[in-house]
Amino acid sequence: MPNMNPKKCPMPEQAPDVRNKNFEEVTLGYTAEMAVEEAQRCLNCKNKPCMTGCPVQVKIPEFIALVAEGKFLEAAAKIKETSALPAVCGRVCPQESQCECHCVRGIKGEAVAIGRLERFVADYARENSTEKAVKPESNGHKVAIVGAGPAGLTCAGDLARMGYEVTVFEALHTAGGVLMYGIPEFRLPKTIVQKEIDTLKDLGVEFVLNFVVGRSETIDELFGDGYEAIFVGSGAGLPTFIGVPGENANGVYSANEYLTRINLMKAYKENADTPIYHAKKVAVVGGGNVAMDAARTALRLGAEVHVIYRRSEAELPARAEEVHHAKEEGIIFDLLTNPVEILTDDKDWVTGIRCIRMELGEPDASGRRRPVEIPGSEFEIEVDEVIMSLGTSPNPLISSTTYGLDVNRRKCIVAEEETGKTSKEGVYAGGDAVTGAATVILAMGAGKAGAKGIDEYIKSKNA
Ligand code: FAD
Ligand code: SF4
Repeated sequence: MPNMNPKKCPMPEQAPDVRNKNFEEVTLGYTAEMAVEEAQRCLNCKNKPCMTGCPVQVKIPEFIALVAEGKFLEAAAKIKETSALPAVCGRVCPQESQCECHCVRGIKGEAVAIGRLERFVADYARENSTEKAVKPESNGHKVAIVGAGPAGLTCAGDLARMGYEVTVFEALHTAGGVLMYGIPEFRLPKTIVQKEIDTLKDLGVEFVLNFVVGRSETIDELFGDGYEAIFVGSGAGLPTFIGVPGENANGVYSANEYLTRINLMKAYKENADTPIYHAKKVAVVGGGNVAMDAARTALRLGAEVHVIYRRSEAELPARAEEVHHAKEEGIIFDLLTNPVEILTDDKDWVTGIRCIRMELGEPDASGRRRPVEIPGSEFEIEVDEVIMSLGTSPNPLISSTTYGLDVNRRKCIVAEEETGKTSKEGVYAGGDAVTGAATVILAMGAGKAGAKGIDEYIKSKNA
């Protein structure tokens, strides 16, 4: 008999006035008892609607049934059949718009907490399993991966399991992509990401760090080194700016630079030697997940934080859970507000931000109501730091140094969805480099598609 409680079993979390001063994980995860109770809410539907919402086709009802029986390691193995990073996905995937929005329990109550169960199972397996990945016998074919984010890591893992000799070339000094340099420790502890990378090393994947493809070597030079195929998963790390006066002043950061200094270069730790300005009052411009991460990070460094967003709360692109957490922690939302100038002193340091009030007009091409300035409504907010979080696009370095690699108007590499095949023979691509800034699970799905495409390509070439 299933548990017919209409509500999800709540997940414990740090109290808002405690967590807003530390970088420890906000949510604490289910206990085994909570996981079993929540798993018993699943109806094990025959047509598995939840699976249709999962880009990597995790066998959701099957793993949840194993959790309900207390078979946690078996549940982890079931998820691992299709997902390489369950501890990551259980924490950062927007389940409310993917698997959980298709869950039938959501019709008359709350959906089954699929994400929380996935996280529990992955954490349980990490802490309790003694199994270690083993390098499969080599098939003698070499493949290069560019970029160690979720797309590249997933592609590397799938190819290594098929017996390929895989080398990942990463520009930064640490593998993990946005999982390491972007998403803050309080949402995704870095030990968890590192563990996933260590598993790939056990499978025989080699990592070459501090290697910028397009500068250290080009794609064509990598082919010359004996790689038969190359997967490009170089992400979309180039920040967008708004173009207002004062944007080059001291104390203006892109969200990516700010978060990289703090997460990857550990500037939040007292003994870190990475410089970061500890501002008193910060304006974060933008309303997406990245803006929420930057705002909550600045808050933890001791600042009063204003999120400045030009539409209303209903249009905020960030996940509802992130907005809820940000509000609970004390972030101030200045909605229907747009910056027009960043104010500075005579040494060009930020002293404030001049904004204008907005109202919503007719819907634009995206279907969202267009924000329109209200004449004469300008006002100033005194701040000593501004963080721009207005989206990112792919860095054109690889496309501009690779002959025959087509990109679209937005500088995204053009690649087939099913296989990752690009316009250049032997080059496959996926993740944010192809779609523009998207999600971890979509990048992982693209990494899987790329591995399949590369395997078919190399087999057909050698047939
Ligand atoms: P990335 O993760 O960007 O990895 C690309 C890697 O390639 C990087 O390590 C980069 O250094 C490397 N690289 C780039 N150029 C080169 C080169 N020339 N040579 C060698 N290496 C190179 N998604 C979610 O699903 N949930 C979230 O909660 C979420 N929060 C986010 C928070 C932040 C702050 C940010 C920035 C993004 C967030 N996202 C979230 C989006 C998600 O992280 C990305 O969609 C995902 O990481 C894309 O994966 P990727 O592998 O394509 O690229
Ligand atoms: Fe279980 Fe919901 Fe999936 Fe049905 S749709 S199998 S109730 S998780």
